Amino acid sequence: MARYIFVTGGVVSSLGKGLTAASIGLLLERRGLRVGMQKLDPYINVDPGTMSPYQHGEVYVTDDGGETDLDLGHYERFTHSPITKSSNYTTGRIYLSVIEKERRGEYLGSTVQVVPHITNEIKAAVLKMATQDVDVVITEVGGTVGDIESLPFLEAIRQFALEQGRDKVMFIHLTLIPYIKAAGELKTKPSQHSVAQLRQIGIQPDVLVCRTERTMGDDMRSKLSMFCNVPREAVIEECDVTTTIYEVPLMLQEHGLDELIVRRLQLSAGELHMDDWREMVNTVRNLDEEVVIGVCGKYMQLNDSYKSIYESLAHAGISHKVKVRVVKIDAEAVERDGAEVHLKHVDGLLVPGGFGHRGIQGKMESVRYARENGLPFFGICLGMQMAVIEFARNVCGLGPANSTEFDADCPVPVIDLMDEQKGVENKGGTMRLGAYPCTLQSGTLAHSIYGRDLISERHRHRFEVNNRYRQLLTAKGLVISGLYTEKDLVEIIEYPDHPWFVAVQFHPEFQSKPLAPHPLFRGFVRAAQLRARAKRAKTSVQGEPR
Ligand code: GLN
Repeated sequence: MARYIFVTGGVVSSLGKGLTAASIGLLLERRGLRVGMQKLDPYINVDPGTMSPYQHGEVYVTDDGGETDLDLGHYERFTHSPITKSSNYTTGRIYLSVIEKERRGEYLGSTVQVVPHITNEIKAAVLKMATQDVDVVITEVGGTVGDIESLPFLEAIRQFALEQGRDKVMFIHLTLIPYIKAAGELKTKPSQHSVAQLRQIGIQPDVLVCRTERTMGDDMRSKLSMFCNVPREAVIEECDVTTTIYEVPLMLQEHGLDELIVRRLQLSAGELHMDDWREMVNTVRNLDEEVVIGVCGKYMQLNDSYKSIYESLAHAGISHKVKVRVVKIDAEAVERDGAEVHLKHVDGLLVPGGFGHRGIQGKMESVRYARENGLPFFGICLGMQMAVIEFARNVCGLGPANSTEFDADCPVPVIDLMDEQKGVENKGGTMRLGAYPCTLQSGTLAHSIYGRDLISERHRHRFEVNNRYRQLLTAKGLVISGLYTEKDLVEIIEYPDHPWFVAVQFHPEFQSKPLAPHPLFRGFVRAAQLRARAKRAKTSVQGEPR
């Protein structure tokens, strides 16, 4: 019989509920339990696939083609929980399903209401996670307690605990303990209010996880315990981490959170094994070599837009014992200033995925700079399409080469819509989504990097390399090293006349973990590290007195 943990948040958003939930998942797994991770999101979009990165950050893609919240990326990086479309439900998706049932007449004439129809749908979504292979379902409720949108979710999880039995369900509330400079004190009042609001809905948290800038004293813990009606040992501190997010589970473990959960839910758990994780965190703390990677894209102000890419670069750095410093390069700034100013100090260039016309010229100029200057280059999705267009224009002499995404009437559409995409009208959930197999060509860099013939990677795009131009491109030296053979689609290109130039139509960043970095990111960061070392060696020789 599965047990359930609900993680809610109070006071402010962006407290790191996703990281906390993922850390709990990791700790329980490391005690021999099988976890299933899930996120409920209160917004009305059916999924985040139609939202701009400015609104929502990265859209995380699952193997089964779900376009989901980026917190699922944390879940997958921290745990082995199966992550599917069932791992993320939004208000929109819940309502859509209820409305479709109503149209089919499934409610047999009843008035359809938030309670019980919407709440039943939410509870069913949670129960779906409780498969035979899962001991503990961990469900994070997005938003902040007190939001209008969160209410049906909170009501549903209250009912859920009543129905399943309070001993099988645990409520963990993440809250902020702000430090007020003028008073020189940490303050508990906002947390008291947010717990009071939860209790008004009928939810008494079992554990308070307290985000703080500074360590809380015993008196603070006692105060929170009394006002929030939570046992003292269940007031857990989660201080800001300084080096890496992968420290969070270690901190929660130090404060006894895993033991508390195991006891409260009467789980038959083993000893905690965290040695390899701790070693990984220690490696991060002690990195003294540095490599600089330029990421040239469109949404550079926000850390969340390319979250999985930044994490994957860090993972690769850990495996080569080098700190990856990311320099965010705005593609439009490259258009203004030229590529060299922005790229001459980086050791590698990554051009990530994206949509729409803005900034593409700058991305293309930066790819050209990397190709012509032997700068390690890694293109992902739109980044690969840019590389193909750049190659077609500047190496094959196909001047007007473009993608029909940017110029529908382009005379040389080296990137084009697949036939099956041509009639698509709805934007939501209609791209080429999820995992597809890719066959690697032997003798290529991609093949040697993966060390396998067949791989599986996740996709999220509409446009593809146009097969009509394949021969022209390969005749000039571009190598097609990965194919989706069933539809004969180009998945990986490389340029052998270069130290490291690889671009992929898929999104490898969704499959990298801190203890299992993705081979392409590892290869790319290694190439950049070697370039940086060579550059350093050259400057130090030049700098020596004669
Ligand atoms: N806009 C491109 C397409 O739809 C690339 C998408 C992406 O980079 N994820 O094909």
